[in-house]
Amino acid sequence: MHWSFRLVRIFGIEIKIHVTFFLLLAWIGWLYHRTGGVPAAIDGVVFVLLIFGCVLLHELGHALAAAHFGIKTPDITLLPIGGVARLERMPEKPAQEIAVTLAGPAVNILIAAGLAVAIGLTTGFPDLQALQQPGLPMTVRLFWVNIWLVIFNAIPAFPMDGGRLLRALLAMRMNYARATQIAANIGHGIAFLFFIVGLWASPMLILIAVFVYFGASSEALMAQVRSISKDLRVSSAMVTQFQALPLAATLNEAVEALLRTSQHEFPVTDHDGQVRGILTRDDMIAALRKSGAATPVAEVMRTDIPSVPQSMLFDRAFALMQQCSCPALPVLDSLGRLVGLFTPENVGEMIMVQSALGARGRDRGPAAA
Ligand SMILES: [Zn+2]
Repeated sequence: MHWSFRLVRIFGIEIKIHVTFFLLLAWIGWLYHRTGGVPAAIDGVVFVLLIFGCVLLHELGHALAAAHFGIKTPDITLLPIGGVARLERMPEKPAQEIAVTLAGPAVNILIAAGLAVAIGLTTGFPDLQALQQPGLPMTVRLFWVNIWLVIFNAIPAFPMDGGRLLRALLAMRMNYARATQIAANIGHGIAFLFFIVGLWASPMLILIAVFVYFGASSEALMAQVRSISKDLRVSSAMVTQFQALPLAATLNEAVEALLRTSQHEFPVTDHDGQVRGILTRDDMIAALRKSGAATPVAEVMRTDIPSVPQSMLFDRAFALMQQCSCPALPVLDSLGRLVGLFTPENVGEMIMVQSALGARGRDRGPAAA
């Protein structure tokens, strides 16, 4: 996740916060300040911070349940739209996935129950009309936030917990890829419905529709890649015929290589053969326009692209490529030498080849598969 700050480490999990989150805080502060001055602004900001505290506890619920099954969670990122716990992998067994998925909303139910007891013991619940009025106690507002988090996550569409739950339930009766495909189709249907209703009712619903649509699409693609590439390694599907550029090269040489080959990304290596960066076609053209052909490639190349070992599983490398939105990943052998490039075209071609083989297998029976 780009533009995120590290906040703290809890149970070995890096808690990060996205920079746009601070914009949200500032905006809420300003909005409340306009209506009620400094006290209202403080109240608004504290309320938002507490909401995100509840979201963080929800994500920690997922992470701790995953840890129970031996799955690590490297980080949790808090975004203005909610939290994302990045699990190292998803549990293989549907029953485990169900447990990990339910653990998040279960935390919110616990918090809501605790708040309900506290409210009952102190002020008592306000009646429903009073909910519309300003100046509700913080406990009451937080109670409703947690109920809302449970309801929102019950929507059976990725990336909400309801979508995962639906997929896990389907996966008990069919294979994982098919279960994901059906769950993603349902997600697309729900996104469409939200969009239509949102046009009449609220722009917020349209935003959620877009969020759900892309969530469903990316989950379906990921599951497809996982199912076709089972046990495949990066080495079996990388580009091995490629041109690298020396660190001392200029954009002039890079342009020559661009015109001579069909490559769009060029690994840049030092004199020991170690990869120092990747020069993309877009960066090359932008730099040509700005600073001319004599510019060294070292000044233009991207240095934030991770290398992967050739023994890495295909779907892991694909997930990594998506996470960093990298145009290509350099592939290294066990001695750290550059032996290939892993590109989105490799993934696309692999999907085509494997689904052709799969279709052949289905048509002619298992012997042909
Ligand atoms: Zn969740």
